[in-house]
Amino acid sequence: MRQPLHRELYNLLERGRDRQLRLAVTGLSRAGKTAFLTSLVNQLRHAGLEARLDLLPAAREGRLLGAQRIEQQDLGIPRFPYDQAMAALDAIPPRWPDPTRGISELRLEVRYRPARSGWRQPETARLTLDLFDYPGEWLLDLPLLQHDFLSWSQAQARVGGEQRQAMFSQWHQAVAALDPAGDSDEAQLAELAEQYADGLRRAKVAGFSNLQPGRFLLPGELEGAPVLQFFPLPGLDESQRNELEALPAHSLYATLAKRFRYYQQHVVKPFYRDHFRHFDRQIVLVDVLGALNAGPERFEDLSHALRLLMQSFDYGKRSLLSRLFAPRIDRLTIAATKADHVTPEQHPNLVSLLESLLAEPLQDLRFADIPVKALSLAAIRATQAREVTQQGRSSAALRGTTLEGEEVLVYPGDVPQRLPPANFWQRQGFDFPLFRPVERHTAALDHIRMDAAIDWLFGDKLI
Ligand code: GDP
Repeated sequence: MRQPLHRELYNLLERGRDRQLRLAVTGLSRAGKTAFLTSLVNQLRHAGLEARLDLLPAAREGRLLGAQRIEQQDLGIPRFPYDQAMAALDAIPPRWPDPTRGISELRLEVRYRPARSGWRQPETARLTLDLFDYPGEWLLDLPLLQHDFLSWSQAQARVGGEQRQAMFSQWHQAVAALDPAGDSDEAQLAELAEQYADGLRRAKVAGFSNLQPGRFLLPGELEGAPVLQFFPLPGLDESQRNELEALPAHSLYATLAKRFRYYQQHVVKPFYRDHFRHFDRQIVLVDVLGALNAGPERFEDLSHALRLLMQSFDYGKRSLLSRLFAPRIDRLTIAATKADHVTPEQHPNLVSLLESLLAEPLQDLRFADIPVKALSLAAIRATQAREVTQQGRSSAALRGTTLEGEEVLVYPGDVPQRLPPANFWQRQGFDFPLFRPVERHTAALDHIRMDAAIDWLFGDKLI
């Protein structure tokens, strides 16, 4: 039997349209990017088979047929190490994959049946999905583009409380005696820059997130290069501007200012120009629970870091980014990761806490008309929710295995619905251990709401 003409035309169009989407995943270190991308690839590869993706209409309707890796376009970008990540999860005992440290890419061809294709003669369609993973720390450098060395030095002097300052005590002592007008000494600069980078690394380990320059933490191929050998000069004042700018090229001030400009032009800008502005969709992962677990100063610091990071997605007319480049991200997801660290009835609170943490940037994004959604998820679920009954009362708990291999049943605590008030930290015992991934019994990884994230990120392309 002949198909109606409009159906034939539709199928022809569908076949001819080679669809492609560039999807980027970011978040600060340990936010869960590697776990997310591993799970995303795994779920799509096992779609239509064992993956549980009921919140994604194309999968629920049996139209999502699966995905295959194909060769990526840009051979200069490292490939996301999916096989190594799966090998770690399949080790005995299972391990978390090693985190990626720079930008990486993986290209998938997703196959699906369009919603309107006939059942008697089903058509398959393809979506080419370029997945990118890059450190959120690199986005912390965007605000650095609106500074010159003098204003950046002053801004850095204003960051942070006592605990954070303590991480830089050695560097503080060493720079206190420096004279901006003195001759610069290569070896001394390298040493002081290393001490500064060491302070940033220690602050990172202690859970601080608002750390600039971002590449000092994840230098990649720039390790040891003079472009990373600078630091802010404390104690400078705007009133000294003319005097400082008149200093000779070999002075300490002029040398640091020159490296700062080089870093802006040759490290920060190229990332936005060559990568960022080509992304179509973006997910930003946030380890809200980790920060909650680490206490008030770290939580406050995360909040500040997120405000800086989110500036990269605010391209309303007056924004710095839209003046520099023309980004094209048309949809954004913000996700609180590792939701399996709390009991399921806490998940709505986790989302509202994430939303209040990002209240200002979310408002700006909505104002700039960029669709954005906040959700909570666990890319690789490591716990099971349980009901425990004690003295006739039942309550929610989590069962999991700690990294040390101990089986535990815990109640990690209540997640506050909004930014916690000061007394939250005194009365609240929010505490959870890190869990080891569970041994896999099915090809698809167990997760929480990866399907909802996929739906929001590109469900509209699978129609
Ligand atoms: P990245 O630095 O952003 O790539 O972060 P990773 O993906 O390496 O995650 C950092 C750590 O967070 C992992 O080693 C795990 O301990 C933990 N983690 C990440 N995702 C999950 C998750 O879905 N559930 C649980 N329980 N832990 C997770």
